[in-house]
Amino acid sequence: MTSCIFCKIANGDLPSEKVYEDEHVFAFMDITPVTKGHLLVIPKNHYENVYDLPADEASHLFSVVPKLAQALKETFQQEGMKGLNVLQNNGAEAGQSVFHFHMHLIPRYDKQEDGFQPGWEPQIETLTHDKIAAFAERVRQLTETK
Ligand code: 5GP
Ligand code: ZN
Repeated sequence: MTSCIFCKIANGDLPSEKVYEDEHVFAFMDITPVTKGHLLVIPKNHYENVYDLPADEASHLFSVVPKLAQALKETFQQEGMKGLNVLQNNGAEAGQSVFHFHMHLIPRYDKQEDGFQPGWEPQIETLTHDKIAAFAERVRQLTETK
């Protein structure tokens, strides 16, 4: 897709700090990292989000994640890396700002080095077990027909 910045990065038409590339996958440093080592992993082909991503592309993409995770761990462990978030946003409401599918690999550190503060609040009062079971049934029916 000609107007897409991540397509341009994967093609080499825009510069990036590349860390990995193969026939299908491109991984590079995020330009505005939230922690030291924040990486992005993308398919070279343009898919806007997870809904559009074919299973074989997803498979190729995730097959390199353990290797990248290990490389981040070995690179930053001595500098205090304590964990890693693998994050992927779909839709503006979910925080997506670049509409070419990408996964974030975000090394985690102690508070003073860590600009990433995700949090969620379980809805235990309203999302009761009965509701969870009903949601599961609805999703299961569609999953089985896909
Ligand atoms: P999103 O919010 O869509 O999940 O994440 C998009 C990410 O892409 C952001 O973390 C942002 O910093 C990064 N980003 C946006 N434009 C560029 C760019 O031109 N180069 C690189 N390396 N990262 C970018
Ligand atoms: Zn693209």
